Amino acid sequence: MVLVKRTIVKIDEELCDGCGACISPCAEGALTLIDGKAKIIREELCDGAGFCIGVCPTGALTLEERVAEEFSELEVEKNLRQSNTTYIPQKCNFCSNTEDNKYLLPIKHKGESMWCCTRCLPRLIHG
Ligand code: SF4
Ligand SMILES: [Zn+2]
Repeated sequence: MVLVKRTIVKIDEELCDGCGACISPCAEGALTLIDGKAKIIREELCDGAGFCIGVCPTGALTLEERVAEEFSELEVEKNLRQSNTTYIPQKCNFCSNTEDNKYLLPIKHKGESMWCCTRCLPRLIHG
C-alpha cells in the first residue's frame, strides 16, 4: 500500500441519508451503501474526480486533500469485475422515468442536484 497526499472524496455521515444517488455516477465503483450510509469501499478506488458530489441531494459529499492510499487503476478494474456494490436505479426528478428506459443526466439548479432524462431536458433548456 502506497500512501500519498492527494484529493479524495469525503463523506459526512451526519448529512448522508442513504439515498444511494451517488453510487452509480462513480465510474470506479468506489462507493457503496453500508447500514444506510455511503462509504468509500477502499481509498485506492476513489480517484477524487468528484462526479458523485453533484448528485448528492444533502451536501454530504465534498473533496478533501489528505494522505490516502494511492489511486489504482488496476484495483478499480479488479473491483468492477467482482463488484457486489448495491445498485439503485435512478429516476428523473421531473417525470419519474427510470434509467432503465431513459438516459439520465445529473444536473444542478440553484444549488440543488437533480437527475433529468433526455426527454425532459429540452423543456428545461428552452423553457
Ligand atoms: S447521494 Fe449523498 S445522501 Fe445519498 S447516499 Fe450518497 S452521500 Fe448519502
Ligand atoms: Zn424526465
